[in-house]
Amino acid sequence: MVGRELDAVVVGAGFAGMYMLHRLRGMGLAVRVFEAGGEVGGTWYWNRYPGARCDVESVEYSYQFSDELQQEWVWSERYATQPEILRYANHVADRFDLRRDIQFDTRVTAASFDEAAGRWRIATGDGAEVSAAFCIMATGCLSSPNRPQFKGLERFQGATYQTGDWPHEGVDFTGLRVGVIGTGSSAIQAIPLIAQQAPHLFVFQRTPNYAVPAQNAPLDPEVQRKVKANYAALRARAKEGRTGLLYPINPLPASAVSAVEQEREYQARWERGGLGFIGSFVDLLVDRRSNESAAEFIRGKIRAVVRDPAVADALSPRSVVGCKRLCVDIGYYETFNRANVTLIDVNRSPIEEIVAGGVRAGGDEYQVDALVFATGFDAMTGALLRIDIRGAGGRTLKEKWAAGPRTYLGVAIAGFPNLFTITGPGSPSVLSNMLPSIEQHVEWIADAIGHLRARGLGRIEATGEAEQRWVAHVNEVANGTLFPSCNSWYIGANVPGKPRVFMPYIGVPPYVQKCNEVAANGYEGFALSA
Ligand code: NAP
Repeated sequence: MVGRELDAVVVGAGFAGMYMLHRLRGMGLAVRVFEAGGEVGGTWYWNRYPGARCDVESVEYSYQFSDELQQEWVWSERYATQPEILRYANHVADRFDLRRDIQFDTRVTAASFDEAAGRWRIATGDGAEVSAAFCIMATGCLSSPNRPQFKGLERFQGATYQTGDWPHEGVDFTGLRVGVIGTGSSAIQAIPLIAQQAPHLFVFQRTPNYAVPAQNAPLDPEVQRKVKANYAALRARAKEGRTGLLYPINPLPASAVSAVEQEREYQARWERGGLGFIGSFVDLLVDRRSNESAAEFIRGKIRAVVRDPAVADALSPRSVVGCKRLCVDIGYYETFNRANVTLIDVNRSPIEEIVAGGVRAGGDEYQVDALVFATGFDAMTGALLRIDIRGAGGRTLKEKWAAGPRTYLGVAIAGFPNLFTITGPGSPSVLSNMLPSIEQHVEWIADAIGHLRARGLGRIEATGEAEQRWVAHVNEVANGTLFPSCNSWYIGANVPGKPRVFMPYIGVPPYVQKCNEVAANGYEGFALSA
C-alpha cells in the first residue's frame, strides 16, 4: 500500500472495521484501518472482566458473509466467552489476511473534510496524518467507558478497575475486599465470579436491573451440526424479527391472555433462558400493564432465590422490563445469599465520596482494597465525539450534535460528505444483533461507494431534509413504545450532561427495507456529485 493514495480510512478494527476492510479491499480499494488497541476485536479486546461473555447465542453472534467461515468455526458454548470471541476475531483476521492493512496501537484523534481536495484528512495520536476519499467510523457503540467523577477518587489507596478497560493480564482478587459500583450487564456477569474470589464484596447499586438466566451450557455438537446444515434459512428467518435475533416473538399480547397463561409463557422462556424472555408477548414494550406482568414474574423469581427479603426487595426493579437492556446472568441473584456479599442501595444512601480506604455512602464507610467501576459507556456517540470530526465548512460534529445525534439512517450525517458511521445512532445497532447489523451497514456502504465509482462520482452527502425526516421518524417510532420511559443509556441518561435523545432505531426489518429502497432509488436523500 505504501506510496499508493488511500481510498478509504476505517477507524476501528472490531467486527465492523474488519469486515469493512475485507469488503472494500475486495473492490480493489486502498484501505487503511487505524485501531487504538493492540489487536483486532474491538469491544472484545477491551472488555476482559471476569465473566465477560456475549448475551447473544454464539451461533448467531458471528459473521455470515462467508459460508466457509461459518461452517468451519466451532463454538464451544451456547453463549461464547470473551476469550472465545476474541479467538474468533483473530481467526477472521488471519483467514482473510486483514492485519497487513491495520495499524494497531494508533488512536485517531481528528478527521476533517478538506473541501478543496474533496478528501478527509485523518490525524492519529502519533502525530501522523493521512488523507482518503472516504472515512468510515467503525468505532463501536459501547467503546467509550463512562467514568463518573466520584469525589475523593484521587485519594483512594487501593487499585481501581473499569470493566470496559480491563487489564490484559487479569486481576486476582484473592485476599482483597472489593467494591463494585454499578449493576448493569457487565457487573451482573462479573459479580458472581468476583464473589467467589474476594473475601468480601460490596455491591453499590443505584438502580436494580432485570436479569434472566442464560441457561448456558456446552453447545451440543449435534445442535451445532443442525444449525450449520440450515444456516442460510436460520439467518434469513432471524432478519424477519424486530431485533434480528432468532428468538420467537409471541404474536399474542399479554393483555389478551389469562394470568395463568402469562405465567406459563414466562416460565417457559425463563427455562429456555436468554433475551428471548422479552418476546414472551408482543405487547411487552408497548403496554405498561402487560409489561408489569413480566416485571412481577421476574420479581417473584428474585424473591424465591434471595433469602433475605430486604435484599430481595432492593434487588427488585420497579421499572419497565426491557426499557434498559435486559441482563442475562449466570448465578447473579444467588450470589446475594453468600455471607461475603453485601448489597448497598446507593439510591437510598448515595455515594458521598471515595476515601483512602474505601467508599463512604449514606454516612457509612465501606473498607475496600479494590474498586471496580462497572459504570458503563458513553454509548453510541461517545466514541465518535472524542474524535475531533470536522465536516464541510469546518463545522464540528460536536456542534452539530450539541442537542443530540442527528443522522440519516444512522450511517451518514448531513454536512459531513463521504463520512460513514457503521451502526451509528439512528440505526437499529444496539437494539439488534450487532453482527448482522454490522454486515448490513458494511455492505450498504460498500455498495454506495461502488455506485459512485461506477459513475465516475466522488462525493456523497446526506441532505439536511432527509436527515430531518429520518430523525423525526426515529423519535416517532421510539415514542410509540415504552423505551423512552426510563433512564437508560439508550437515551444518554447515564452520562451527566449528555442530551436526552433516544438514539437507536427500533425495528430491523423496516430499517433494512428503507436502506434498500434508498439505494434502489439512486441513493434517495443523498446528494451525489463529482
Ligand atoms: P450499564 O448497563 O450502563 O450499567 C452501568 C451501571 O453503573 C448501572 O447500574 C448504573 O446505574 C451504574 N452507575 C453509573 N454511574 C453511576 C454513578 N455515578 N454512581 C453509581 N452507579 C452508577 O453498563 P454495562 O453494564 O457496562 O452495560 C452496557 C451495555 O453493554 C449493556 O446494556 C449491553 O448492551 C452491553 N453489554 C453486553 C454484555 C453481554 O453481551 N452479556 C455484557 C456487558 C455489557 P444507573 O442504572 O442508576 O445509571
